[in-house]
Amino acid sequence: MKFIETRGNDGTSPSAITFSEAILSPMSSFGGVYSPESLPCFSTEFFKQHIDSGYKVLAKDVLNAFDIDIEGSLIDEALSLYDEFDEPTNPVPVVKVYEDLYVSELYHGPTRAFKDMALQPFGKVLSSIAQKRGKKYLILAATSGDTGPAALETFKNRENVQVVCLYPDGGTSDVQRLQMVTEDANNLKVIGIHGDFDDAQSALKHLLTSKVFNDALAKNHISLSAANSVNFGRIIFQTIYHIYSYLELVRNQVVEMGEEVYLNVPSGNFGNALGGYYALKMGLPVKQIHIASNNNNVLTQFITTGKYDLRDVSVIPTTSPAMDILKSSNIERILFDLFGADRTKELMGQLDSNKFYELTQAELERVQKIFAADYCTDKEGVDYIKQAFEVGYLMCPHTATCFKAYESCRQDKSVKTIAYSTAEWTKFSPVIAEALTGEKFEHDLEALQKIADIANVSIAPQISELFSKEVSQKTVIDKEEIEAEILKFLQS
Ligand SMILES: *Cc1c(COP(=O)(O)O)cnc(C)c1O
Repeated sequence: MKFIETRGNDGTSPSAITFSEAILSPMSSFGGVYSPESLPCFSTEFFKQHIDSGYKVLAKDVLNAFDIDIEGSLIDEALSLYDEFDEPTNPVPVVKVYEDLYVSELYHGPTRAFKDMALQPFGKVLSSIAQKRGKKYLILAATSGDTGPAALETFKNRENVQVVCLYPDGGTSDVQRLQMVTEDANNLKVIGIHGDFDDAQSALKHLLTSKVFNDALAKNHISLSAANSVNFGRIIFQTIYHIYSYLELVRNQVVEMGEEVYLNVPSGNFGNALGGYYALKMGLPVKQIHIASNNNNVLTQFITTGKYDLRDVSVIPTTSPAMDILKSSNIERILFDLFGADRTKELMGQLDSNKFYELTQAELERVQKIFAADYCTDKEGVDYIKQAFEVGYLMCPHTATCFKAYESCRQDKSVKTIAYSTAEWTKFSPVIAEALTGEKFEHDLEALQKIADIANVSIAPQISELFSKEVSQKTVIDKEEIEAEILKFLQS
C-alpha cells in the first residue's frame, strides 16, 4: 500500500511513498503529512475468524491487510514487545464500569500511558529500518509528560537512533519527570528547560529550521524524524486495539457480532481517535465516535459547529495535561479522507494564515455522522473520578473526560460504549488523591501511597522504583542554550 500527501504535491517531495519511507520522513508537501491511499476492508468473516485470537495474532493480520513493506519477522519482533505488558495474553483489558459502559485500558505498558501501545512496536520498526538503510536518525521530542517517557523507553539502546527530549522543568508531574531523568542510555538526552511546554515546542520548531543546526546534522550524516502522531507509523498500531476491544465485548457476550457500539476517546492530537475512525472505515461495527476534551475545547467546537477557531484562544492548563492541545494534528487526516487533498490544503492553509476555517454545511453533516463531541471541566472530572470510584473503578483525569461525553453524546441509549483509558492512576496521583479525599497533595509519592491505601491497590513497580533510581539526566537550561547543548550531545 502507498501513502500519499494530505495537501497534494509541490514537486519537491515524492507524491506516493511506502510505509517505511513514511515512517522515516513523515512530513509532505505544503506542510502536510502522509496518509494511506486506501484502507483495507474487513468483512464480518474476518472478525469472526479472530474472535478467539490473541492480541498479536489479530495485530499481525491487521498490519498484513495494510500490505506494508516491513518483513514478517520484524513485525513479529515488534509485536512481541506486547509480551512485556502486565498480561501478555491480554495487553488491553476491557473492564465493565456501568451496564453499557466498558473501559478499554491502554496503559498496561512500561510507562503506564497509552503512548506505549504504538511507540513500543514503532521504536523497534524505526530503528531496524534505519539500520538496514545504514542511516542515522535523530528524534526530537517536546513533551508535556507522556510522549517523552514512552519515546525514551522505546528507543533506549537501539541502534541508529538518538533521542533528545525537551520538557518544561516544573511543568510535569514528579512521576513523569523521574521517568525521563532516570533514563541513562548513551543514545538518549533529556533536557529540562526554564519555561513551559509551549517554550519547549517552539524551541524545537526553531531547531528544525535553524541552518547551523541542520548543517551540523548533515555533517554528522544524521537525518531528523518524528515520533509524534503525525508519523503514520504510530497511527497504524492505534487501529488494532479498537478492533481488539470490540472483539472482547463479543467474546464476553456483551454485544453480538455485528452489533454497533460507540467509541469514546479522550483526545488531544487526535491520533487515538483517528485509529478508531480508520477501524470504522475498515468495517468495525461502530455507530459513532465520541470525542472527549478538557477545557481546551477546540475539538468540541469544531465537531459541533464546523468552525476550527484558534483566533482568541490560548492553552489553558488543566488536570488532564496530555490533552492541553489546540492544534490537533490528525484532524488533517480526517479532512483528507473525507474531502480530498485540494480542500484539505485550502482549509489547513486558512488555519495557518488566519487561525480559522469553517466547513460548509454539507461537510459538517458528514463529520457529524461519524463524530460527536463534548468537553469536561476539571471540576466535572473530579466528580466523575469520585462517581466511578464508588462503583470500584479507579481512573485518571484524562479517562474522566470520557464520562462527560458518555453522558451527553449518546443519541441511542441502547448502544453500548467502549471508552478508552489512556493513563494509569499512578501518573496523575495528586489530582486523583485530592478528588477522593478532598485533601491537597504536593508530591506524587504521598498521593500514590494515599490512593494505594484507600483503594487497596498496589503501585506498579515501574512507578514505585522511580523514587529510588539515580537521576542521570541533570541538564536544566535556558531556551537559548538548547541548540548548543544538543550539538554537544550529538558529537559526544
Ligand atoms: C497522548 C494522550 C492523550 C491524547 O491522545 P491523542 O492521540 O493525542 O488524541 C490522552 N490521554 C493521555 C494520558 C495521553 O498521554
